[in-house]
Amino acid sequence: MPSSEFTRDPAEIVLEARGLTRTFSTGSRLRPTKVSAVAGVDLSLRSGEVLGVVGESGCGKSTLARMLVGLETPDGGTLVYRGQDVTRGRHRDRRHLRRGVQMIFQDPYTSLNPRMTVGEIIAEPMASTHRGSSASRRDRTAEMLDLVGLSASMMGRYPHQFSGGQRQRIGIARSLVLDPDVLICDEPVSALDVSVQAQVVNLLAGIRDRLGVAMVFIAHDLSVVQHLADRVAVMYLGRIAETGATEDIYEHPAHPYTRALLSAVPPHTRAERGKLSRRDLLTGEPPSPLNPPSGCRFHPRCAFARDECATTLPELRVPGEPIASREVACHLAEEIALSGARA
Ligand code: SF4
Repeated sequence: MPSSEFTRDPAEIVLEARGLTRTFSTGSRLRPTKVSAVAGVDLSLRSGEVLGVVGESGCGKSTLARMLVGLETPDGGTLVYRGQDVTRGRHRDRRHLRRGVQMIFQDPYTSLNPRMTVGEIIAEPMASTHRGSSASRRDRTAEMLDLVGLSASMMGRYPHQFSGGQRQRIGIARSLVLDPDVLICDEPVSALDVSVQAQVVNLLAGIRDRLGVAMVFIAHDLSVVQHLADRVAVMYLGRIAETGATEDIYEHPAHPYTRALLSAVPPHTRAERGKLSRRDLLTGEPPSPLNPPSGCRFHPRCAFARDECATTLPELRVPGEPIASREVACHLAEEIALSGARA
């Protein structure tokens, strides 16, 4: 049975991305086209911390998730896990990452093998890494089922015999069986009924408290991560628009895109309700990553845009007061904050 080989020092950065990029080639051989899915993302995750990554569909958050767990190889930047550069290298060199960083997938209907029993699914990571005897694997599987609120007596059943929420619990049990210290949760509740979403989020919060496992929790809705995340990173078209402590982001959003996402959250869940205006409402569709806008990628949809926004890319920076508590990629962040966005 796996036992923890990780010391969990809350000050330690367990996973760090620096300038991570990923570009895909599409189109025909004669007319190849590049899609910039992730365009230079920096983020860090401390032991036991939950980082929420939020953005619309197509903003690159799932590609980022796959790079963080080693399923996708970045074509630029570095990924450091527990002090070791795991960006590239042979299969063998990335064993460290695969053991310590596990993924919870978005769709519990397709991420479980329908021909395997639940016991086999949960024990599979132990079997494929030749860990423990069959008896100890069975004990560990029972322990994981109990941890996620299911019964060991369900081990012989198949995925189709479970509800969507239960299947996601099985996926969570499988992700924890090797005792990882980081979970990458790729929209783990978006395929579930609203009524069970909160149960799964609460389960993950309990697991973080009990096991001290750090998480990157990806969502397209800020309200999903509000009560779970210690920090939030807002992504727009492959780049981080704003990142900071969850409370700061919710109470005083600085980037116009964060303000727009927050204006879509039910009013009773945000303190900033009186300070957001119609100018903050998000309009238009996200531009295609095939042809991202020049300068600030948000400028065609931004109600605050000026001429420089269309020509100069804003870097992620620590702004001045009154929003100095976060990093934001906007030329006019201080001005927008001081204006109270009265429109
Ligand atoms: Fe809007 Fe300009 Fe800020 Fe981009 S840099 S978010 S376009 S004000």
